[in-house]
Amino acid sequence: MDKQFHFKKKYGQNFLHNEGIINKIATSITPEENNLVIEVGPGGGALTKELQHHFDNVLAYEIDLDLRDELESSFGNSNVSFIFRDFMLSNIEEDVKEYQASHIYFIANLPYYITTPIVQKLINSSLNVEGIVIMVQKEVADRFSASVSTKEYNSLTVFLNYYYDIKKLFVVSRNNFYPIPNVDSAVVQLSRKKDLPVVKNKDLFFSVVRDSFQYKRKTLKNNLKKYDLKKIEEVLKKHSMDLSIRAEQIPLDIFIEISNEL
Ligand code: SAM
Repeated sequence: MDKQFHFKKKYGQNFLHNEGIINKIATSITPEENNLVIEVGPGGGALTKELQHHFDNVLAYEIDLDLRDELESSFGNSNVSFIFRDFMLSNIEEDVKEYQASHIYFIANLPYYITTPIVQKLINSSLNVEGIVIMVQKEVADRFSASVSTKEYNSLTVFLNYYYDIKKLFVVSRNNFYPIPNVDSAVVQLSRKKDLPVVKNKDLFFSVVRDSFQYKRKTLKNNLKKYDLKKIEEVLKKHSMDLSIRAEQIPLDIFIEISNEL
């Protein structure tokens, strides 16, 4: 990428220039036939170029219109399509329809200011994204893969663990980016679970988990006042717990059991 380019901090523009790492990210998924990979933030197109060789089609969302000419002239008529729009405002279900892809993946070196909203958008979408490989801030990677009873464990950890097996692949030092950011990064892989645990009512499950973590220091008794506390207490009792417990001490399977009982 031309260093004359005016990098925009507000868009989280730190471009990765280590080709070995770029290649490792792009090839961390072995795609099945008739596939599509979605990328958010192609930037100068370094990762996109690798994805292009490894996947049938690439759909990349870029918010910065100043990158348009360079990206379009580098990729021309190829298996790469760009949508120059804020990913958060995009209707991804609609955008991927025309590909009729049998397998959808998501690979990106994410803009860090919206890591969580992007991941949330993906898991809330009706798309069956089978594999996700993302570069995120190192601390965020720890949160995604946090174990129960650690301070990093939160509602997003529970949601992600419901859908995906999560693995931290490797750490990437800040020196591999231009401009150099203030933090180190890590690449995380999420692989969709083949058999999702049975949840009777997904909306209810999501709201129970969200409400349980609403006030982190409060107990379940206080955070879940609007639900049938007697039923919740019965489930907890089976696991030698009671309503004075905090959300960060509750593993995914017990959250599922609680929501299924309600
Ligand atoms: N993929 C490139 C690389 O690996 O070097 C660039 C990654 S850079 C960390 C993040 C990219 O996301 C930038 O190109 C930025 O303009 C883009 N971006 C930021 N916010 C975005 C949004 N809401 N929607 C789409 N792209 C966004």
